[in-house]
Amino acid sequence: MKPSNEMKISFLSRSSNESFARATVAAFVAQLDPTIDELADIKTAVSEAVTNCIVHAYQDGLGMIYITAKLFDNGKIVIQIRDKGCGIEDIPQAMEPLFTTAGEERAGLGFAVMQSFMDKLKVKSQKGKGTTVTMEKTIIRRPVQNG
Ligand code: ATP
Ligand code: MG
Repeated sequence: MKPSNEMKISFLSRSSNESFARATVAAFVAQLDPTIDELADIKTAVSEAVTNCIVHAYQDGLGMIYITAKLFDNGKIVIQIRDKGCGIEDIPQAMEPLFTTAGEERAGLGFAVMQSFMDKLKVKSQKGKGTTVTMEKTIIRRPVQNG
């Protein structure tokens, strides 16, 4: 199925851009009329993925973060968050709840949060080349209220 709408943004991995990314994706998906809860879930998942690019992918400096969001007629939303940073060596291990390479500073729950708040999560990565996180969520279509 072809998306009925699509957007792309890219921005520098500054922590100030985390809220920019979260709000921009939320504004775009709002046209599908999600509930407050659905929108909150999507914002949290985007925030976790973007934070990972900022703190892990480009830990030694700055780089670009790329987001694509696609909307489908059946209410499905596909969001892709990509970086060209350090990459992940062992993806299954990285996705385990409580696993972190950041020591005491971080909880190691980002991927677990993305997994529980979205319907699907896919992580592709190549050491030294970067990481792509693809998440899907289908917004429950509600009948339009008249009057
Ligand atoms: P938290 O998200 O709770 O603050 P965390 O970021 O360490 O902690 P996850 O988001 O689950 O936990 O990520 C697990 C690990 O996967 C990270 O510690 C890091 O090693 C690796 N990782 C995640 N995203 C990326 C990325 N974009 N580039 C490189 N490594 C990543
Ligand atoms: Mg994280």
